[in-house]
Amino acid sequence: MELEIKALNNKYAQKSPEEFLGEIVERVGTAKIALASSLSIEDQVLTAMLLKTEPKARIFFIDTGRHFQKTYDLMEETMHRYHFHYEVYAPESKDLEEMVAGHGPNLFYESIELRKKCCELRKVKPLQRVLSTVDAWICGLRREQSPTREEVNLLEWDGNQAIYKVNPLAFWSEEKIWDYIRKENVPYSSLYDKGFRSIGCRPCTRAVKPGEDVRGGRWWWESPDKKECGLHIAQP
Ligand code: SF4
Repeated sequence: MELEIKALNNKYAQKSPEEFLGEIVERVGTAKIALASSLSIEDQVLTAMLLKTEPKARIFFIDTGRHFQKTYDLMEETMHRYHFHYEVYAPESKDLEEMVAGHGPNLFYESIELRKKCCELRKVKPLQRVLSTVDAWICGLRREQSPTREEVNLLEWDGNQAIYKVNPLAFWSEEKIWDYIRKENVPYSSLYDKGFRSIGCRPCTRAVKPGEDVRGGRWWWESPDKKECGLHIAQP
């Protein structure tokens, strides 16, 4: 299965995410494409769009073990609302036992190296397990989210995983996301009503201050150019 990246990006640049998703899912095949959901507003919009297109679509959740309780509550609500089950991927217990025993439960605040180690074991390794089963993954990345995402396009080649990466909301503004959520009555995390604009693990996410970018509340103690967990590292 091969996708013409440039041609498809041109074809769908002015069209809706639903139209783009429709063609990609059909071309790749339902069993070989999966949506990565962290229950963010973007992922909730994509969940609604994708299940409309394909009720048997694969949607997965990386359960780091450090999410907000509200994230788990929303997961439950979303499953009931759309009548589906998430695929769930968790870290290896041995990895966590050694990491927490060696560095303590809150190692991420100590250094960027330890923060990255935690993301690697809790997120990246479980992600690699699920991505080894697909030819393409769907993500909620948007250009305006942060300086690290300014170049995101609808369809990309993910050289880290050697599969396609599909970003149907690449050009959407935050306002457009909220319009869709209201129009389609999509369930979302109540943390957004408390000033959060991006949701990750509880110890590493806080509400943003006025003027901060969307991902300013993620690993807020680090500089903006380092704020990725390893799931979305750009290719050279
Ligand atoms: Fe660990 Fe924080 Fe990364 Fe979650 S976001 S995996 S708690 S460092």
